[in-house]
Amino acid sequence: MDVALARSWIAAIAAAVAEQADYLTQLDSAIGDADHGVNLNRGFTAVLAALDGPPPATVGEVLVKTGSTLISKVGGAAGPLYGTAFRAIGKALPPDSTVDVASLGQALRAGLAAVQKLGAAVPGDKTIVDAYGPAVAAFEKANDEGLGAAARAAAEAAAEGMRATTALQARKGRASYLGPRSVGHQDPGATSTWLIFQALADITT
Ligand code: ADP
Ligand code: MG
Repeated sequence: MDVALARSWIAAIAAAVAEQADYLTQLDSAIGDADHGVNLNRGFTAVLAALDGPPPATVGEVLVKTGSTLISKVGGAAGPLYGTAFRAIGKALPPDSTVDVASLGQALRAGLAAVQKLGAAVPGDKTIVDAYGPAVAAFEKANDEGLGAAARAAAEAAAEGMRATTALQARKGRASYLGPRSVGHQDPGATSTWLIFQALADITT
């Protein structure tokens, strides 16, 4: 991945979030406060503006800037969580204009660790982690097959993890206040995580 591809990834995420904003908000209205799509759309719109200048020199800088902007522009749980993830991904990358697939896999794993450190969610809590965890594992497993294949495997695993959240009871975040009534609804955050990995698959195939 080079700087231009990193920017394309972020642009593809922004486009997907804008297109799916109503859907994400609808999912959040069932088990949250109906702002997930609005939150992320505002955040990624701000990220696009922040990246709309002279390109950073490294892939890491693109992702750190993305994360910092999300943290400063998005309230709620997901803004700080995704912001922290992108910052951690960017910081874990070697400071180069091009990074290889293995480095990206390691950086994605650092992003997951940062999300779990901040939010204290474990797999099965019906959160971002339920899509992000399987996605990183699949990405790492397919590393040798190149970025496109790794991204496709990650997106498929994220989709599976996302769908599996429907049957789970939320144990973290706003949805956990509903207790057993959170069962039967797909988690909004796991859904946006799938969009993020699907965006990477879309631009690398
Ligand atoms: P809020 O819940 O503050 O309104 P959002 O609606 O933007 O924030 O995001 C809700 C999503 O955040 C949930 O669907 C869930 O996936 C994710 N989330 C909430 N708490 C956590 C946590 N502690 N760890 C990981 N993800 C979380
Ligand atoms: Mg919400």
